[in-house]
Amino acid sequence: MIPPGETIGILGGGQLGRMLAMAAARLGYRVHIFAPEPDSIAADVAAQFTCAPWDDAAALARFAGDCAAVTYEFENVPVGPLKALGGVALLPGARALEVAQDRLSEKRFVEGLGGRPAPYAPVDTDEDLADALDTIGSPGILKTRRDGYDGKGQWRIMTDHDALGIRLPGQPLVYEGFVEFEHEFSVILCRAQDGTVVFWDSAENVHKGGILDRSTVPAGPEVLVQVPAARELAGKVAAALGYVGVLTLEFFATRAGPVFNEMAPRVHNSGHWTIEGALTSQFENHIRAICGLPLGDPALAARGVEMWNLIGDEAHDWAPILADPRNHLHLYGKAAARPGRKMGHVTRLTL
Ligand code: AMP
Repeated sequence: MIPPGETIGILGGGQLGRMLAMAAARLGYRVHIFAPEPDSIAADVAAQFTCAPWDDAAALARFAGDCAAVTYEFENVPVGPLKALGGVALLPGARALEVAQDRLSEKRFVEGLGGRPAPYAPVDTDEDLADALDTIGSPGILKTRRDGYDGKGQWRIMTDHDALGIRLPGQPLVYEGFVEFEHEFSVILCRAQDGTVVFWDSAENVHKGGILDRSTVPAGPEVLVQVPAARELAGKVAAALGYVGVLTLEFFATRAGPVFNEMAPRVHNSGHWTIEGALTSQFENHIRAICGLPLGDPALAARGVEMWNLIGDEAHDWAPILADPRNHLHLYGKAAARPGRKMGHVTRLTL
């Protein structure tokens, strides 16, 4: 067990790291952020900051020397250089990063545990794409296997003809059949070091332009019937990875049951509602899990919860948002409100 007062290292300097650092501070921990970008909004609320590239082994070793355990808020941290952390525990482990960093390996992994992703095929060449269109058909989505997020690195192919115009970007891709889903939802769990697993209520999620727009809890009845099967799969994924901390799986609710979309080995945007809307937030339970503390109760703290993201310029509306006393405003402290950038979120409880 890592007692309060010790230092927790977080790889990644964005808003997830910021909210993890705030939860850790509340429990009496110090936080040390490691991130390559100098303007880290997580470092703004942490005790210490190492700004260095992901592959700087000496900086990683120094960072680890200050930490009782290391976690991550960003799943694209290169795995190789993490050897430099030496004997300091990395939680969740490197295997979770490896699986979740690659859309192909993540689909195969989840399929191996009985999950059902959309039909998919790896695409490295124009011939592979033609073959994938032959077997899977259109419409579909071509996605980079690595480094895609918030709809980036994705090309929608509505007809086979569309595919003719695509110049492959020269990195490994995966083609997925388009899922005719009725709703999207996520399963967020936290697994403790002794294998105890808790689940938050599943949020129904609406995306706009590939970016999460809104999460609603409780989800509608069409989603709720699919949650048990989705939870069972998420629990298997966590157990197979010997996972410690918060794990997220995203699903499409279809008439034929839940279709696995993707996983994130970390706290998740569709769980931000848990800060005010659950008895224990995803951020706090993640810190508790990696420190070997008992997990807190994830139960709903209200009849319902609504969370919506503030993207780009929407963050400038903080004054009217605050004028409604029901709104809980979270701004991440990012300097520039670029289009498509997550700048903050708002949570509203139905009591
Ligand atoms: P992703 O980054 O893969 O989660 O994609 C972002 C969003 O694009 C998803 O949440 C869906 O709204 C949509 N999307 C991604 N893949 C598919 C698919 N195979 N079929 C239908 N919609 C998809």
